[in-house]
Amino acid sequence: MTDQFLPFHRPQIGEEEIASVTETLRSGWLTTGPKVRQFEQEFAEQAGASYAVAVNSCTAALHLALECIGIKEGDEVIVPTMTFAATAEVVTYFKAKPVLVDCRPDTLNIDVEQMERAITPKTKAIIPVHFAGQPCEMEKILKVARVHGIKVIEDAAHALPAQDNGKVVGSIGDITCFSFYVTKTITTGEGGMATTENLEWADRMRTMSLHGLTKDPWRRYTAEGSWDYEIFSPGYKYNMTDIAAAMGIPQLAKSKKFWETRQRYAQLYHEGLKDVAALTLPSVRDGVQHAWHLYVIQLDPDRSRIGRNECIEQLKKHNIGCSVHFIPLHLHPYYRETYGYQPEHFPVATRLFDRIISLPIYPGMTEANVHYVIETIRELIGE
Ligand SMILES: *Cc1c(COP(=O)(O)O)cnc(C)c1O
Repeated sequence: MTDQFLPFHRPQIGEEEIASVTETLRSGWLTTGPKVRQFEQEFAEQAGASYAVAVNSCTAALHLALECIGIKEGDEVIVPTMTFAATAEVVTYFKAKPVLVDCRPDTLNIDVEQMERAITPKTKAIIPVHFAGQPCEMEKILKVARVHGIKVIEDAAHALPAQDNGKVVGSIGDITCFSFYVTKTITTGEGGMATTENLEWADRMRTMSLHGLTKDPWRRYTAEGSWDYEIFSPGYKYNMTDIAAAMGIPQLAKSKKFWETRQRYAQLYHEGLKDVAALTLPSVRDGVQHAWHLYVIQLDPDRSRIGRNECIEQLKKHNIGCSVHFIPLHLHPYYRETYGYQPEHFPVATRLFDRIISLPIYPGMTEANVHYVIETIRELIGE
């Protein structure tokens, strides 16, 4: 037993981030400006994308992505049920319908065969979510989407950095949306990014992220700028601040180092837990680089002394913070009541929901912490 609580997550903020933010605070330019432009350029380069648009959340990025591809009232957008609220709520912003699809039992990513069966003439887009940081089967998904003339907007909130078959996530689908929320693999406190190869979409997302104004605000207030602007479309207030970008630039530079540590910890968990009969450990597809944002184990209640909820409670008593990703969308009152979804419509996600536990995995914890989690779990579930 350790006497210090091991939180489920802690952001990894170093002197570089503090110096960078301090410099921005002293610069006199706090909102969208040179730091945001620099962050976008460096992010695009790392993601292998032509364009990157920085915003204040991944939710905002997903909203702008659906807006620029022209989602309208009555359209359908396919979304996995095993995801966070944001992935589907952005669809409802347009009075369009989020059509839920079950997950695979091994990766917990969207089941591509069921996804294809969910397509109707109203389907305009698919939002695959790279669950825990493991890319979905993007070749299959893109092939299906192209056949049906459907756009693919990736929810890559967990997937920095990740690759599918040698392709970097951020350069695969039509638009890819990332999150820099405080628990994600890199953070700006709150923040998000959309990457794309399509200049028209990138321009539209940038414009709509700041009230639909024609001119870059940074230029408006510089010596060569002017007060003049035009509104082309009523937009949103989704721009990223230079303060956030100043944190993001050093975070991005460290993202590979962070990932190497998470990968090592995932390996330690695997080695330490693979012989525990009551557990199913994460399964990684061939040819995938997993970002390891989450390490999600499945606890078989029939083979364990205690159930999932009890296990999380006991881990907390042993000073270990865990979480559950996710409560599938179809089990929430809004989705049940609005669309009539029932637990048995998505048997895999419903069954897994009672079994999944997300263990702490982040560069700020030590190897000793990982070993302590392993020992505690083995003790608790009776091995
Ligand atoms: C965190 C998360 C989001 C939302 O990210 P924000 O930056 O907080 O808006 C979207 N999708 C998934 C799968 C997430 O985990």
